[in-house]
Amino acid sequence: MKVNKIFRSIQGELPEIGLSTVFVRFQGCNLDCKNCDTKYALDPNGGTEMTVGKIFNEVMKYDAMNVDLTGGEPLLQDKQDLIKLIRALKDMGYRITVETNGSINIPGIFMLCDIINFDIKTPSGGMKNNLDNFQEYVFSRHINKFYFKAVISDWDDYEFVKNFYSEHMRQVSPEKIILQPNWEIEDKIFDTELMRKVVEDNLKTNKFRIGFQLHKVIWDPKKEGV
Ligand code: SF4
Repeated sequence: MKVNKIFRSIQGELPEIGLSTVFVRFQGCNLDCKNCDTKYALDPNGGTEMTVGKIFNEVMKYDAMNVDLTGGEPLLQDKQDLIKLIRALKDMGYRITVETNGSINIPGIFMLCDIINFDIKTPSGGMKNNLDNFQEYVFSRHINKFYFKAVISDWDDYEFVKNFYSEHMRQVSPEKIILQPNWEIEDKIFDTELMRKVVEDNLKTNKFRIGFQLHKVIWDPKKEGV
């Protein structure tokens, strides 16, 4: 498996924000979002080849009981290896979160994980959503594990999420949709004025959750491995 980095930090994002977590950041992604904040993990030639056993041993060095499989896109790794890794960690009592861009559908992995953070791709990132996957998971019996995260860079992104939700996700509780401001806005932490407008409108309409990335507040937003 191709690994960018394994490190322990706090979980910076909802729904498990603030918990001590070991992150296994896999290398490589099949998308190229303009607003990607882990571009250092995209190069398919980067990273380090590691066996399932080696990754497992690295995770075990830390005393956190939450593991976040992220990337890049973790579901691009060998499916059998991923299943082996998740099973071994679950056997040790770890709670497993997987972060995925929503383009790859591996039900066997979703079944094993505890939390699945699925991206809703917004227009500012320049990528499209895989509607078949959304439909499958919106109606899935594992829906309780799924959270849908959308990066908001501008008002159009917010309007897009509202429409996308009404057209494709009405069966999902709005509290499972997490609006997260884009931190890559130049010279700003994020666009607070935009987010105030979003919050005001959201309180009157869908009442999605508003999230943000705690690690970017505590450390430099561009710092890796935190
Ligand atoms: S899917 Fe995620 S990791 Fe891949 S390019 Fe987009 S934001 Fe980056």
